Amino acid sequence: MSIDQKKLTFFQAKILDWFKLNGRSFPWRAKSASNYIRIISEVLLQRTKAETVANYFPKFIEIYPSWRRLGEASQVDLEIALKPLGLHKQRAARLFRLAQDMKNRKGRFPSNPKKVSEMAMMGQYITNAYELFVLNKPSPLLDVNMARVLERFFEPRKLADIRYDPYLQNLARRIIEETQYPKKLNWAILDFASRICKARMPRCSECVLSSLCSYYYVNYVNIH
Ligand code: SF4
Repeated sequence: MSIDQKKLTFFQAKILDWFKLNGRSFPWRAKSASNYIRIISEVLLQRTKAETVANYFPKFIEIYPSWRRLGEASQVDLEIALKPLGLHKQRAARLFRLAQDMKNRKGRFPSNPKKVSEMAMMGQYITNAYELFVLNKPSPLLDVNMARVLERFFEPRKLADIRYDPYLQNLARRIIEETQYPKKLNWAILDFASRICKARMPRCSECVLSSLCSYYYVNYVNIH
């Protein structure tokens, strides 16, 4: 499937404009946020709403302000720490393995990105977050929410699993690579997914993308 360059440029510009006025502010997005804060927040954000994580985040960071402190926690400690976010034992076990690894590595990720992706907890999403925040590479934070916005605006993917869909992966990469603001654009799409292009009731009537949106065209323009 080819990607319409005009739509891509329009999408980037409109979403960034929207973000300037409507973007959410979270502690892990602060300019001063350390790499630890950036990565550990992404771990906590998986499967939990950003607002819920934001409420709990100061307490978590007070107890575990660094990889070293996190690495000193037992697996049971981490189970207790993740409970308020509804994250289960399995996740705590994986976080425990990552924390141990990072403590042993004195808080430094391996220099080879492939080795990073093989560490516990470092699935495709967190590895992309590592590339974006630690290596400053333009990598997409492609999760189900970002996928929903991209698929509605451009066109649907073919495969059920977003991690393996070549069209969606390529689209997300191009959107984030072809901008001067990869971090902001990632955050903008995630905020837009949460506030406008919602899973159940997308707010199409107030959407800045509607004039070129495929979903909007099919559902509201081309209905006869
Ligand atoms: S017009 Fe509707 S479906 Fe399309 S991007 Fe906007 S909110 Fe999402």
